[in-house]
Amino acid sequence: MRAAIFNGPGDITVGERPNPVIQDPTDAIVRVTLACVCGSDLWYYRGESKHEPGAIGHEFIGIVEAVGSAVTTLAEGDFVVAPFLYSDGTCELCLAGWPAHCLSGGGWGNATGGGQGERVRVPLADGTLLKVPGTGHSDDVLRSLLALSDVMCTGYHAAVSGGVREGSTVAVVGDGAVGLSAVLAAKRLGAERIIALSRNPARQDVAREFGATDIIAERGDAAVEAVKGLTSGLGVEAALECVGTGESLDTAFKIARSGGMVGAVGVPHDSVVPIETVIFRNVGLRGGVAPARKYIPELLGDVLDGSINPGLVFDFETDLEHTPEAYAAMDERRAIKSLIRVGAA
Ligand SMILES: [Zn+2]
Repeated sequence: MRAAIFNGPGDITVGERPNPVIQDPTDAIVRVTLACVCGSDLWYYRGESKHEPGAIGHEFIGIVEAVGSAVTTLAEGDFVVAPFLYSDGTCELCLAGWPAHCLSGGGWGNATGGGQGERVRVPLADGTLLKVPGTGHSDDVLRSLLALSDVMCTGYHAAVSGGVREGSTVAVVGDGAVGLSAVLAAKRLGAERIIALSRNPARQDVAREFGATDIIAERGDAAVEAVKGLTSGLGVEAALECVGTGESLDTAFKIARSGGMVGAVGVPHDSVVPIETVIFRNVGLRGGVAPARKYIPELLGDVLDGSINPGLVFDFETDLEHTPEAYAAMDERRAIKSLIRVGAA
């Protein structure tokens, strides 16, 4: 089958990889229809995080092509969303609501095929895949379903971790696809004021569309002053960190008001938690890898009825053979997030 192949930093090609087959009775084979490039794929692409050579990509939707003998909830032909990790749904941590830390779980890679390829072997298929009801979904709905695979759930986790609720005052650090999704998530959870930090006009537009009430173009200490200027000098109840750099975490803690919470989902790179702020200003920190498999069922109905449209983060698209361009567009910040049309729906 055709698939994107990671050869090393800055080097993505498209070539032949082994067609995945059922190995365990709990497996399913999914034929990928839509895939996309994650901000974390960019860390690999830029050589700032390690990645095995070979299969790449962990966000995809598609059609079940085959199921193992122990799979009970899925059948050939089902249209499914795959979360960015697989999980059994039955272990103690899954049952506690933390499927990303499933005791039997794992990620997509050479053993399964990556999301940026024609087919993926999905272990623990009953626990992992979400069957999408209905048929004939519009392209807008399909794009938003793809966003549930990772980016929307990760933004949602920032907002949930930050304790966003009805009436909250929120600021979002980061105007990438996750940050924009966090704006949409904060809106869905009832935030009254949502301040987006962005200096990019196209991203500001999406932030407003998603529910941002204020946009701040400053960075660093100037951004901190600007957020305080909008919040009676206090800062926000929930500061959502969606980048992963030391500077962005620092900004998030500085714009959180005393007693507030930082909801952090950016993959950390040289980040240090300012424990003095935690202790002397009572600013909490929650966040981490999103429990996407828990959130997808919560968000699926909103996507299907059009009340949220997280697929708006995709502003570049191409086909599988041009996957390297999907990476380049994001690397050069020409695109917020790149969608890859892999196969027929
Ligand atoms: Zn589990």
